[in-house]
Amino acid sequence: MRTDQVEYLTFSGWGDPPTDLRPALDGDLSCDVAVIGGGMGGMATALRLAERGRDVVLLEAEFCGYGSSSRNGGQIAGAPGGDLRLLTLFTHKKMPGIVRLAENAGRYVEGLIATHDIDCEYVPNGLVWGAVSPIQMVRVKTFAAIFKRFGGHGQVGTSEELGIPRSFVGGMRENVGGMLNPRKLTAGVRRAVLASGARVFEGTKVIDVRRRHGAVDIVTANGSVHANSVVIATNAYAGDWQTTPKNLSLPLYVIEAESEPIPADKLAALGWTSRSGVITQHQIMTHYRLTERNTLVFGVRRAERGPAYPLPTNKTPDPSLVRDLAKAVDEMFPSLAGLAVERAWGGWIAITASWLSVAGRVEDNVYYSIGCNGHGLCQAPYIGSLIADLIVDGRAPEDLDVVWTDTNKFPPIVLLDPVSLRTIWALDRVGDAVNRFVRTTRARWRTRRGSGRRALAPIDGG
Ligand SMILES: Cc1cc2nc3c(=O)[nH]c(=O)nc-3n(C[C@H](O)[C@H](O)[C@H](O)COP(=O)(O)OP(=O)(O)OC[C@H]3O[C@@H](n4cnc5c(N)ncnc54)[C@H](O)[C@@H]3O)c2cc1C
Repeated sequence: MRTDQVEYLTFSGWGDPPTDLRPALDGDLSCDVAVIGGGMGGMATALRLAERGRDVVLLEAEFCGYGSSSRNGGQIAGAPGGDLRLLTLFTHKKMPGIVRLAENAGRYVEGLIATHDIDCEYVPNGLVWGAVSPIQMVRVKTFAAIFKRFGGHGQVGTSEELGIPRSFVGGMRENVGGMLNPRKLTAGVRRAVLASGARVFEGTKVIDVRRRHGAVDIVTANGSVHANSVVIATNAYAGDWQTTPKNLSLPLYVIEAESEPIPADKLAALGWTSRSGVITQHQIMTHYRLTERNTLVFGVRRAERGPAYPLPTNKTPDPSLVRDLAKAVDEMFPSLAGLAVERAWGGWIAITASWLSVAGRVEDNVYYSIGCNGHGLCQAPYIGSLIADLIVDGRAPEDLDVVWTDTNKFPPIVLLDPVSLRTIWALDRVGDAVNRFVRTTRARWRTRRGSGRRALAPIDGG
């Protein structure tokens, strides 16, 4: 792929910021519940609270949808992230709940889209765990067996059966979820929140949360909110907080890139009939998906550890990482080699030690839902809506139990320092090189056998 004319974006390739920003907080006010952070998590929390009749204030540092909720791959996943073998080993009892939560989160976002009539190009065509080699296919089958054992729904098949490009050996398609445009989704949810009665303040960065006389004071540059309870939904920016548990998550910067539109003949030749998004089975996955305008969006493959808090807000992808991603496309889809990468962008994700979402409460009225890892597009809002129900009903919905933690301290998260991240990336590439070697050798061997047969045929037949 050509990477000489890439537009590097500080926001998202999926759309632009809103033009009707809500005014920043100016002065002091009181409310029942305050929500900090206007991503999918915070917006869904505020929306649900407003729908259930609560007096809610939403405070967002930039604009609702500014964070990774608008920048991601747009893949509604219906299965948990992380290594299912390790999860089974360490959280065996919780596995049915973890699987159920993942599927319910996908269904929740589908419901949100339908209820609020959000045009976000959603196609419920399922995310595929794609195998780029026979070894990855073994991993897919192992994971699929675990997923199904604990109640998950998916379909294992060859690339042909799943309608994904033949450069994949095969994979497993999740039955719940699909592909959408995440910026259109956040714009639609923002519209719903603004119409809901929730009081929304954009351009309002919270600088402190103080507990006072059983209530909470939330401090911003030009005013404060006095609330009975607060929900912190600031995702990877959570390191700013003294109130939430230490080592809850680490910020990683991951990137997305988008090609120019793929010519119709090349697209047809890929055999991508299902148009399902595909994630590879590398330690740090790469994902590929098509968009409504027939471009290819692909991402991740490498992750950068965030520096100290506060995280930089205007970061753009490192061009060398975009070239590395483009190389992945060249290797996977050689027929797209001449295509140009048009734009690239990135965002911060909060990674937890288990790679599972985490939510909890500090004392009795500071709630948080922070680390939804790479599956937060549906899990962050679903968990946010469950926290809203907990606040209103006083008891936790069943799915919330799965991610709930009462601990105030987490052990430090290991293997996510820059050297380890680089090593994991290098090991993935060694795996790719071995796979390419095996494929090429097999292909040569088949050709030789084939030409040998052709050479013999006239003699045999003659
Ligand atoms: C490149 C990329 C690809 C991804 N791909 C996928 C995918 O395909 N599928 C999937 O499920 N997930 C994916 N994810 C993860 C997913 O996007 C996130 O888990 C999810 O969007 C998190 O939502 P959120 O509401 O918790 O956080 P965010 O959307 O990040 O929102 C947090 C908000 O808090 C605000 N904020 C922070 N600090 C303050 C403060 N002090 N005061 C007020 N406001 C504050 C921020 O401005 C921001 O708007 C991806 C993430 C990235 C970056």
